[in-house]
Amino acid sequence: VEKTKEEKTVALKKKDCQPAVFIPVDRLPEIQEARLKLPVLAEEQVIMEAVKENDCVVLCGETGSGKTTQVPQFLYEAGYASAGGIIGVTEPRRVAAVSMSHRVANEMNLSTGVVSYQIRYEGNVTKDTKIKFMTDGVLLKEVQKDFLLHKYSVIIIDEAHERSVYTDILIGLLSRIVALRNKKGLPMKLLIMSATLRVEDFTENKRLFCTPPPVIKVEARQFPVTVHFNKHTPLEDYTAEAFRKTCKIHRMLPPGGILVFLTGQAEVHSVCRRLRKAFPYRPNNMEHTETEDTSEELKKIKKQKQKKSVSLPRIDLDNYSALPVDDRDEDRQAGIDDDDDDECSDLDLGDQPEDTEEKADPSIPLYVLPLYSLLAPEQQAKVFRPPPPGARLCVVATNVAETSLTIPGIKYVVDCGRVKKRFYDRVTGVSTFKVTWTSQASANQRAGRAGRTEAGHCYRLYSSAVFSDFSQFSEAEITRRPVDDLVLQMKDLNIQKVVNFPFPTPPCSEALVSAEQLLISLGALEEPPRQGRMVDMKRASLSCPITPLGRAMAAFPVAPRYAKMLALGRQQGCMPYIITIVAAMTVREIFEELDRPASNEEESSKLAGRKARFSQMRRLWAGQGQSLLLGDLMVMLGAVGACEFVGCTPKFCEENGLRYKAMLEIRRLRGQLTNAVNAVCSDAGVCVDSKMPPPTESQVACLRQIVLAGLGDHLARRVQAEELLDSKWRNGYKTPLLDEPVFIHPSSALHKELPEFVVYQEIFETTKMYMRGMCAVQPDWIPKLLPQYCHFSGPEQNPASWYCTLSGNVKCQQKSTFFRVGWKLPAIEM
Ligand code: ADP
Ligand code: MG
Repeated sequence: VEKTKEEKTVALKKKDCQPAVFIPVDRLPEIQEARLKLPVLAEEQVIMEAVKENDCVVLCGETGSGKTTQVPQFLYEAGYASAGGIIGVTEPRRVAAVSMSHRVANEMNLSTGVVSYQIRYEGNVTKDTKIKFMTDGVLLKEVQKDFLLHKYSVIIIDEAHERSVYTDILIGLLSRIVALRNKKGLPMKLLIMSATLRVEDFTENKRLFCTPPPVIKVEARQFPVTVHFNKHTPLEDYTAEAFRKTCKIHRMLPPGGILVFLTGQAEVHSVCRRLRKAFPYRPNNMEHTETEDTSEELKKIKKQKQKKSVSLPRIDLDNYSALPVDDRDEDRQAGIDDDDDDECSDLDLGDQPEDTEEKADPSIPLYVLPLYSLLAPEQQAKVFRPPPPGARLCVVATNVAETSLTIPGIKYVVDCGRVKKRFYDRVTGVSTFKVTWTSQASANQRAGRAGRTEAGHCYRLYSSAVFSDFSQFSEAEITRRPVDDLVLQMKDLNIQKVVNFPFPTPPCSEALVSAEQLLISLGALEEPPRQGRMVDMKRASLSCPITPLGRAMAAFPVAPRYAKMLALGRQQGCMPYIITIVAAMTVREIFEELDRPASNEEESSKLAGRKARFSQMRRLWAGQGQSLLLGDLMVMLGAVGACEFVGCTPKFCEENGLRYKAMLEIRRLRGQLTNAVNAVCSDAGVCVDSKMPPPTESQVACLRQIVLAGLGDHLARRVQAEELLDSKWRNGYKTPLLDEPVFIHPSSALHKELPEFVVYQEIFETTKMYMRGMCAVQPDWIPKLLPQYCHFSGPEQNPASWYCTLSGNVKCQQKSTFFRVGWKLPAIEM
C-alpha cells in the first residue's frame, strides 16, 4: 500500500511540471489504478527528460515493469505523436506486436485505428494511427523505402536484449538515421528498451554512438522466487516430465497460476492435451472427475510425499552469476539415495512455501491455455484475462512468455530448460531448428515470471549441475549464422560496404566475404571486374551493388539460394511447384527415419517390410523420364501432392512413411511463401490451394533449370571411367567443396540413374559421404545458367568448348552455342 502511495505522489508531481504540449488521455479508473502500480510509472519524468535531452536513450527494466505498454503512452502524452510524426515500436515477435497494440489501445481508451499494429502481410494501420507496433522486419522494410523514416518522430526498439538479427541491424541503421534527421532539422528520437542490464554492446560501441547514450534503469519490484532443481535431467522426454510436474503442483500446492516453458508449438499442444485430459475442465459443471491414469499418479504422489525433501537455494534474479557453487554438491548428495526406478524420485515439492497453511484442494479445476507466437490473436488474449472463478490458470508456452508477454497471476514456473534455436550449416547453407539448452540469463528470466505478484516457485526440469554448464547469456544471433540473407537485405538498403556497417556485434569478416561471394554467384550482386573472362571470386571486393534480381530475391523470406528459385519460378506456371520444393527443402526431413537399428528380429523384419514399401512409394513419386531426372525433388513434390490430395491425414502419412508434422509444416510454409510471392509480384496470382496437379514434362524441365540456377554452387560431376584415379572413386562424384568422392544414397531416386551432372541440397556423412536433395542437370545448361563458374575457349558468344571450375576443374568438352543470360531463363530445351 505504501509504495502505491509513493507512486501516486510521483504521478502528482509530474502534473506540476508537465511538458509544454500535453495530450490528455481518458483512461478508465481501473486501468489508471493498475498503471500506477507499474514500476516504470515512477520513472516517467526521468525517462521523458532524458528523451528530451538526448537523441538516443537506453531503458532497462525487468519484464513486467511496464516498458512496452507505458513508454509509448508517455511519449504520446508528451506530444510526440501530435506534430505530424508518429510513434513506432518494434518487437522481434509478431505475437508481441499484435497483443501490445491491443493492450495499449485498450489502456488509452483509443481505437485500434489510432494504436495499430503491422506485421508481415497483416495489420490495421490507418491514416489516424499515432502509435504503431510492428515487427523489426517490417521497420527494416520501411527503411528500404524511406531511409529517413519521415513518418516517425520516435522509434522504440523493444526487447533489444533478445539480440535478434533485425533488431541489431535496426539499431545500427537508426544510429545513423537519427543523426541525419537531427542534422537536417527533422528531429527524431530513438529509445532502446531491454529486459536485462547487459547493454554495453549498444552503449559502449563507439562506431554506433560517439557519445554513449544514457541508460535509465527501472527498479522493478520482484518477489523472491525459490528455485527447485531436478535431481535428474531427463534427456529425452522432458514434455512428459513437464506434464508430471504440473500435475503435482496443481494437486499439492496452494492457489496461483502455473506457467510451463516448452520449446515449440507441437510440444505446447501435446502437454495441453494431456493436462486437459488429466483435469477435465467443465465450465458448467465444476465437478472434477478423476481419470484412471491420474488416480494412479495420485498414489505415487502420496508415496512420494513421505520422502525426504531437499531444500534448494534461492537465486538472485538481478545477478545472473550468483548461483551458489556448493549447490552442485547438494545436488549430488541428493542423488545418492534415489531409487532410480521411481519416475517421481526427483519430486521436490516437499519443499513447500512458507504460506502453505492453506491446503491445496485437488478438486479445483485447471484452466489450461496454450501460448506461442503463431497462435491466433484472440486465443493469445485469453492468457491476460482472469481464469474462470475457482479455477487455476495454467499457461503452457514457448519462450514468448519469457520476456515479451507478462501473464498476470503466475506463482509457479515449470522450466524445461530448453529452447528451439535456428542453426545454420556453414558448408551447405541449410538452416534447421534444433532444441538446445537455453542460457542462464534466460532460465533466470523464466524463473522471474513466478515472482511478479507474490513470492513464487520455479521448478527446473534439470539439475543444478546442468544449469551451471549453461552459457551465461544467449549470444547475439548474428554471430552464429551465415549472413548471406542479411548481406542481401542490407544491399537492398543500398548499404554497399557491409564491412563498415556499425553492427552492435559484428559478424566475422570471413562470413561476410563468403556471403558476398555467394550472392555474386547467384546474380544478386553485380560482378566485380572480371579477370579475363572469369570472375575472380576470391578477390570479390565487399562493395558490390545489388542487381534487379537481387532486389526481387530480397523480398522473399527464405535463404538466397531458395529466394533465387522463387524469383525464377514464374515461368511455365512453375511457381506452385517451386514454392512446394522450397518449402519441402526447408523442412528438410520429410520421410520417416527407417535406418534405425532394430532391437529384435521381429522389429527388424517389420522395418524391412516398411522400407520395401516406402522405396516403392518413392519410385512411384519419382515417376519416369523427365520427372525422374528431377530426382529427390520430384519425390518430395510427389509426396506432398499425394498427401494433400487425400487432405494430409496422419493415416496417409503413417502408411506411406511421411512425417505428419513435416507435412503440416510444409503446408504452412507453402501458404506463407504464396503470400510472399503474390505480395512481390502483384500479377503472379498464385493460388493458395494445397492441391495441385502433377507438373507436365516441360514444367519439370523448367523446374530442373530453376533448381540448377539456385543451387549452382552445389554442382557435382560423376567421375568418368577414363578418369578413375582409384577404385574408391567408382560411381563417385566430384564436388567443388571436397577432395573426397561423394555418392548417391541408395534411397535416392537417382541411385540407378547415375547422371553425369547433379546438383544437391547438402552433403551428409554416414558410412560414406552422400548427397541429399538431388536433381539431375543437363550439361549444356551449365554454361548458360552458371557462366560465372565456366572457362570458355572461344569467344563468349560462340565458344568452342568450356569447362566448369566447380566440378573440380574437370574439363567438359562440349560444343554448344549459347548466349549469356540474365535471370530470365532461356526457352526450355528438351
Ligand atoms: P514490460 O514491457 O516491462 O515487460 P509490459 O508493459 O509488457 O511490461 O507489462 C506491464 C503490465 O501490463 C504487466 O503486469 C502485464 O501483465 C500487463 N499487461 C500487458 N498486456 C496485458 C493485457 N493484454 N491484458 C492485461 N494486462 C496486460
Ligand atoms: Mg515488454
